[in-house]
Amino acid sequence: MIRVRTFAGKTVALFGLGSSGRATALALMAGDATVAAWDDKEEARANAAAEGVPVVDLSSADWSAFSALILAPGVPLTHPAPHWTVEKARAAGIEVIGDIELFCRERAASAPDAPFLAVTGTNGKSTTTALLAHLLRCAGRDVALGGNIGTPILALPEPAPDRVHVIEMSSFQIDLTPSLAPTAGVLLNLTPDHLDRHGTMENYAAVKERLVAASRYPIIGYDDDYCRRIASRLRECGKEPDVFSVLGSLENGWFAEGSSLVCNTTWPGFQGPFADLAGIRSLRGRHNAQNALAACIAALRLGVQRDQLGPALATFPGLPHRMEEVGRAGRVIFINDSKATNADSTEKALAAFPKDIYWIAGGRPKEGGITSLRSYFPRIAKAYLIGEAAEDFAKTLGNDVPYELSGTLDLALEAATRDAMQSSGSEPVVLLSPACASYDQFKSFEHRGDTFRRLVAALPGVESANQS
Ligand code: ADP
Repeated sequence: MIRVRTFAGKTVALFGLGSSGRATALALMAGDATVAAWDDKEEARANAAAEGVPVVDLSSADWSAFSALILAPGVPLTHPAPHWTVEKARAAGIEVIGDIELFCRERAASAPDAPFLAVTGTNGKSTTTALLAHLLRCAGRDVALGGNIGTPILALPEPAPDRVHVIEMSSFQIDLTPSLAPTAGVLLNLTPDHLDRHGTMENYAAVKERLVAASRYPIIGYDDDYCRRIASRLRECGKEPDVFSVLGSLENGWFAEGSSLVCNTTWPGFQGPFADLAGIRSLRGRHNAQNALAACIAALRLGVQRDQLGPALATFPGLPHRMEEVGRAGRVIFINDSKATNADSTEKALAAFPKDIYWIAGGRPKEGGITSLRSYFPRIAKAYLIGEAAEDFAKTLGNDVPYELSGTLDLALEAATRDAMQSSGSEPVVLLSPACASYDQFKSFEHRGDTFRRLVAALPGVESANQS
């Protein structure tokens, strides 16, 4: 745990008692701050109290006693309307910050040279953060991985010059981190998302821009207009961001050419292809080339050697539920892409396999359904439709793709496996990539993916992958 000493002797209000809120309260208390913590949910309050966190009703508290409000990132700061605790903090004239801000202040005060890598973007954050941590660990570095992925930042070990903190950051977390200044900052891509919480795309992009603008080494994807404009603005301010693309070669940047990762910059002694993703099962698809480029550049900036990258990429285990290979039966592979809860994500999975896809899709539908996936329909041998979206998806598939209304995941898997086994393709794929939320039949996308993995492991003749 990181002891937060920057509020020693002061009293802070804290709202939001999920795992990061509880870790924050304990970190502040360990640094001799007094905490008054609250959550709307009774269960969250009870969990916090059981861990020794002082629970105080902030709606009736005296806010003049507080030095700051520490807010959980899921709680609205500005849109659609500021949360009532934010209104109270503003009325009391105190700052509103998040747990990563506490980390940044602690680092600035006690270990300003401690390496700190921050990763953001609309898509691919978790994969890139995990891959970057893996590359650094393979190079023998002491890595603390967390933030928006896995462990809350203040539950990680203290920042230190010989330890690298690799932190995933959502836009909400950036919003609550005014003194963010990472050693290297990665911005992968920007597409409309969370606009209910940021108001406009411009506001959303401006929040993400802060992470790279404040970095010593800004690393920016060059495949969408928002990111390209951010890179230009940084150049106008005299910075030299590393830019990378999976859509084409760059004159002064990094790019993917087929499965090969290429450097075309003035980096001394570093020109041409430097790694190859061919055959790396955890990094299938062009989107993963984007993630891999970002992770490699950040690792190189942190001193990892070029020849260490290839072997480290090859041993990346990948993350569960994201194009995760969960089993194999002869030529047939089974892919768990349960995290694909919308058509955009499913598109990445369909794009990664050229043909012979036995596609399990459906659940609670998102706006737009699967109409945007039409150009990938020729790759789909057959679709197996489940959940509330089944009828609607069937209408979109029409006569273009054979389908059956399987209803549930177990029946869909059974039918897809039967058909894939009979296929003459060289590597038929049974792909769970639902393009839907899971809540109609499962507790979460993790629950859906875990169920799929378990069902696959129980199929006769399947060699299951050992990742949990
Ligand atoms: P995040 O943490 O940003 O949600 P993840 O790494 O968990 O991202 O990936 C979630 C899904 O987003 C993946 O299953 C894939 O469909 C898609 N994805 C991953 N990386 C990218 C990328 N670089 N660009 C676009 N989509 C991506």
